[in-house]
Amino acid sequence: RPAMPDFDLSGLNAAQREAVETVNGPVLMLAGAGTGKTKALTTRIAYLLAKGHAQPHEILAVTFTNKAAREMKNRIGGLIGDAQEGMRWLGTFHSVCVKQLRRHAELVGLKSGFTILDTDDQIRLMKQLIDAAGIDAKRWPPRMLSGIIDAWKNKAWTPDKVPASDSAAFDSQAVPLYIAYQRRLLELNAVDFGDILLHMVTIFQTHPDILQQYQRWFRYILVDEYQDTNVAQYLWLRLLAQGHKNICCVGDDDQSIYGWRGAEVGNILRFESDFPGAHVVRLEENYRSTPHILAAASGVIAGNRDRLGKTLFTAREDGEKVRLTGYWDGDEEARSIGDDIESMQRGTRGMDPIGLDSMAILVRASHQMRAFEDRFLSIGLPYRVIGGPRFYERMEIRDAMAYFRLAVSHDDDLAFERVVNTPKRGLGEKAVQMIQRTARDNNLSLVEGARIVCQNRLLGGKGLKELTKFVADLDRWHDAVYPDSTPMIDDDAVLDDGFATPVTTYDHIALAEMILDESGYTGYWQNDKTPEAPGRLENLKELVKALENFENLQGFLEHVSLIMENETEEQGEKVSIMTLHAAKGLEFPVVFLPGWEEGLFPSQRSMDESGLKGLEEERRLAYVGITRAEEICAISFASNRRVYGQWQSQLPSRFVDELPPAHVDVLTPSGLSSGAGMVASELHDRAHSADVYNSPGWKRLQSRGQTPNAPRAQSITINATAECAFVAGDRVFHQKFGYGNVDGIEGDKLLISFDKAGIKHVVARFVVSADA
Ligand code: ATP
Ligand code: MG
Repeated sequence: RPAMPDFDLSGLNAAQREAVETVNGPVLMLAGAGTGKTKALTTRIAYLLAKGHAQPHEILAVTFTNKAAREMKNRIGGLIGDAQEGMRWLGTFHSVCVKQLRRHAELVGLKSGFTILDTDDQIRLMKQLIDAAGIDAKRWPPRMLSGIIDAWKNKAWTPDKVPASDSAAFDSQAVPLYIAYQRRLLELNAVDFGDILLHMVTIFQTHPDILQQYQRWFRYILVDEYQDTNVAQYLWLRLLAQGHKNICCVGDDDQSIYGWRGAEVGNILRFESDFPGAHVVRLEENYRSTPHILAAASGVIAGNRDRLGKTLFTAREDGEKVRLTGYWDGDEEARSIGDDIESMQRGTRGMDPIGLDSMAILVRASHQMRAFEDRFLSIGLPYRVIGGPRFYERMEIRDAMAYFRLAVSHDDDLAFERVVNTPKRGLGEKAVQMIQRTARDNNLSLVEGARIVCQNRLLGGKGLKELTKFVADLDRWHDAVYPDSTPMIDDDAVLDDGFATPVTTYDHIALAEMILDESGYTGYWQNDKTPEAPGRLENLKELVKALENFENLQGFLEHVSLIMENETEEQGEKVSIMTLHAAKGLEFPVVFLPGWEEGLFPSQRSMDESGLKGLEEERRLAYVGITRAEEICAISFASNRRVYGQWQSQLPSRFVDELPPAHVDVLTPSGLSSGAGMVASELHDRAHSADVYNSPGWKRLQSRGQTPNAPRAQSITINATAECAFVAGDRVFHQKFGYGNVDGIEGDKLLISFDKAGIKHVVARFVVSADA
């Protein structure tokens, strides 16, 4: 490929240029939000390609979300055009790693066509194992055990590496269950999300020849959002980087927001000792936000004790202060924000119209989205939800996907269980147990177990007839997926790196339609008279449409299992709604940050924790939120909110009080400034004073019989006393603090003396009974 010798770096400042031009050796860019880290990183990739330092497939570039990966690709394309094509190793940790694992699957006892389980499958599988072990699933919810195993995988702990102190949890049952779970995954030829990285780390550690191949292969390694890598990801990277040692990581310790998922900010702080001689670049100019926004963000994050601390400045013009509004309740908040968006879109009060694509609502918890979705639907305001309840998580889509999975692999027992009696085939619990027993006794998959049941007529009448048809259907679909027993070899892959990737071709779209038809699944919804049925049929059509972008069912299934966000790309401008976590790395001219209330943001869980760790992570999340805004940042809170069907009175978030007053404009819900001098605490008092009882909001609610609890000035008491089924003296277990005895009950909170962790207040919901 011809080099482009005069690559233009004039759009970068001196420090960024240094990060781009320091081509050899380790480079660390540690800098605050909006300072152009991602810009420098993408320019570096373009530069490496343009200058001929590497071929596209010799660059490993990892980011956090599919959206970020796509954006990076676009930005590189913008800089050097199609010279970036063939960057097959640019993607999320998982997408890149799964590509590797497909090639070496047999080394960890898998076949290359393994399935990737989602959380739902994971938990169902865990439930079966817990049942089989004769353990009471009420005491040890499968979801909780799944969570523990996930956390261990994020720490790169295979069952043998779990330290004794951790394995004591669950009455020392967790490790045996972890082992059983891994064994079952192998039988199913499946992996869960955590396995993808863990398996590759294991392969690299046990097969130095393979590791060396990749080390030679990746001339340059680049990582964005490095502060959020977990231990498994860190080990994987460190192993790969030991080859050329040309690794460039960028991140910001103040934006580490995935500690709850095992991310370790320590990874970024350790970079210089991991890679001696690392070139450290600091960026201090923020190009994204106006001074008021930046000052507000800096003011909040200054409340964290555990940080490196950085200077940030901006040369941008002042702009407007951060807007702060207190609302009566969550509905008023949604309504008012909807109105604000519409008026900005029209352009009012001397402001230019702002397109909907330029606006985003960032929430702490996804349940906050519903109020906005409902409101926007009713006023016809177009919006998109990013990272919310996903299309691929809907029931009908999951059913259809289970059929596709079975067509691709007869080993997929979870898929079999999901659809064997969906639609109803008269194959009830008994029939399924018979199939399971037969499969287990013969050490076969459920599909093969079903075949034996049919051959030996182990079922009677209608069931036998239906099962025989079902197995014949599965065989036919399976044959259609593998038309030729010798798979073709992807030449491109062989040329590139010497590894062969088998691919097969067939008309997968026609096949998908046929499967949904012949299985009776489409007909099932056509005959369904519930109001949801038409929507479900629409979704099934949408699913088949989505297949057009893929070569075969296998590729599609893989894509879906890796998707971490909603990616429906429809035409037209839309407001984006997403969680703060999903907003990482993004920027919008206008950002709304609703729900800044104690117990919501910071989350109740972080407030219940002992120590500051959880709260500091919430504060970083607040920092991430504010720093997404370029021109307008509107923070709000409501005095009342319905949570799990119960009205609660809310207190403004402590982060509201931490906003530096000089950079904040306190507005009344009508959008008018309440005048100088009214600070957050006054707003807060107003929200909790008696005059709320005379407000239109209260009266409206009263007339509907929906009066919330009287606002309480003191604390947010979740009305959960009724749920609290414990009495003093009960023996309990808490996921984090272990075993203990209940000493007292205060509303929804328990005072517990834990065997190891001492005396603590914890929310009753997070505790399970440990009495035999
Ligand atoms: P975050 O920490 O939020 O991920 P970041 O450090 O990755 O932020 P970027 O997204 O790369 O920051 O850049 C923020 C904005 O500043 C972008 O709009 C980018 O185009 C712009 N920008 C970056 N560097 C420069 C520069 N040298 N001159 C002008 N604009 C710049
Ligand atoms: Mg970035």
